[in-house]
Amino acid sequence: MKRRRRPAPPARPLGGLASHFTREGTAKNTYRTETEAREAAQLVWTLNGADLNAYRCDHCHQWHIGKRFRDD
Ligand SMILES: [Zn+2]
Repeated sequence: MKRRRRPAPPARPLGGLASHFTREGTAKNTYRTETEAREAAQLVWTLNGADLNAYRCDHCHQWHIGKRFRDD
């Protein structure tokens, strides 16, 4: 079953858009490829010990890194 996706206004990141914006409401860094995103995540892990995921964004179809949303 397909999840309904309503066109949320960009001012309030909700649902799928939340993966594109930071908590502050600004757009996340984008990476053109999964490899680039993974390398960036690796760097963050090296510097901060933060375990981030690389994921493809439904909104801009590029890659971001961040904490994955609970989807299971
Ligand atoms: Zn995005």
